[in-house]
Amino acid sequence: MDFRQLSTGIIIIGSSLQKIETANNAAIKILGWDIETINQNFTNLKQFSEGLAEFSKLIKELPNYQKDLVENNKIKRVEIKINHQYYNLYLQFIDNQFVLELNQIIYQDMKQSTHELKRPIQNIKTLVETLQMGAKNDQSKCDEYLAKLNQEADRLGTMVQDMLSLSHVLSGSIELNLTEIDLHSRAEKLLSSSQSSAANKNIELINQIPKNSKIKADAKLFEHLLANLIDNAIKYNRENGKVLVKLTDKTISIEDTGRGIPKEDLSKIFDQFYRVKHSLDVQGSGLGLAIVKAIIDLHGWQLELESELDKGTKFYIKS
Ligand code: ADP
Repeated sequence: MDFRQLSTGIIIIGSSLQKIETANNAAIKILGWDIETINQNFTNLKQFSEGLAEFSKLIKELPNYQKDLVENNKIKRVEIKINHQYYNLYLQFIDNQFVLELNQIIYQDMKQSTHELKRPIQNIKTLVETLQMGAKNDQSKCDEYLAKLNQEADRLGTMVQDMLSLSHVLSGSIELNLTEIDLHSRAEKLLSSSQSSAANKNIELINQIPKNSKIKADAKLFEHLLANLIDNAIKYNRENGKVLVKLTDKTISIEDTGRGIPKEDLSKIFDQFYRVKHSLDVQGSGLGLAIVKAIIDLHGWQLELESELDKGTKFYIKS
C-alpha cells in the first residue's frame, strides 16, 4: 500500500464557494468529518471543533484568494495545523472548481527540533569547559561531570533516534507489512526487556493478555508502539507501582499507577517535543507519543487515554 497517495487529502469546493462538492477518504480522516457534515453548506461547517480552528479560518478567507486563483491562475500554499499535525494546503482553481490539497508536513518543525538539540549540546559544551577550567583536577568533580557528560550524550542519542523514527513513520513511504501477531508473547517479550528499568523502582509488570490472542499489525511498528507506551508507564510511575497490559474485546490497554497527566496537558502530549512540566525530572525527548500516534494512524486505529493525577494513566489502543 502506498500510504503517501492515501494520505493526500483532496477537497473540491464549488465555484460559488458555498459548498464542498466532494472530499476523498484521506481528507475526511484528516479533518475528522463525517459524511453528513460534508453534505452541508459552509455556513454549517462553522461548527468545527477547536482543533480545526485554522482550517475553519482558511475557509472564511477563501473569497480573498478568489481573484488570484481564478483570474491569475495562481496556486496558493498555506501551512495549517489540524488536530496537532502540520499540513501544507495547496489551493487551485481547476475546471471551474476550487481544489484543496492537504499534505502532511513531515518534520517541518525544524526550528523547534534544532532548538531542542541545542540544549544537550550546550550542556555538553559547558561541562567540558568547566572541566578544562580546573574541575578536572578535582577527582570527585571530574567523576561527577563525566557522569553528567555521559547522560547528556545519551540524551542526545535518544533525541536523534526518536527524530529518525518519527520522520520514518511520517515519511509517507512506509508500506505496512501486516501479519498476525501473537499478542501475549509479544507483550511478554517487551515487558521482560523492561524488567531491569522497572526493578529500579520496584515496579511490577503484569501481562494480562490471554494466551493465543492475535492482532493484525506491522510487527516492527507495533513493537515500537507498545515499547514506547510501556516505557512511559514505567518512567512516569511511582516506587512499588504497577504496569498492566490488558486486552478487553479488541482494545489493548497499557495501564500504570504513576503520576498521571494534568487535564490541561492531555490534548498536547501527542505534539512533537511536548513534555508536561511536572515530568521534566525524567529524561525524554517529547517525541515518543508523537511516534505512537503516527503508528496508530498508519494502522487506521484509535488511541484514547484516561488519566488521573497521582493515580495513574491508561492508554487504549482500539484496533
Ligand atoms: P517523553 O520522551 O517526554 O516521555 P512522550 O512523547 O513519550 O515524551 O510523552 C510526552 C509527555 O507526556 C511526557 O513528557 C510526560 O509528561 C507525559 N506522559 C506520557 N506518558 C505518560 C504516562 N504514562 N504517565 C504520565 N505522563 C505521561
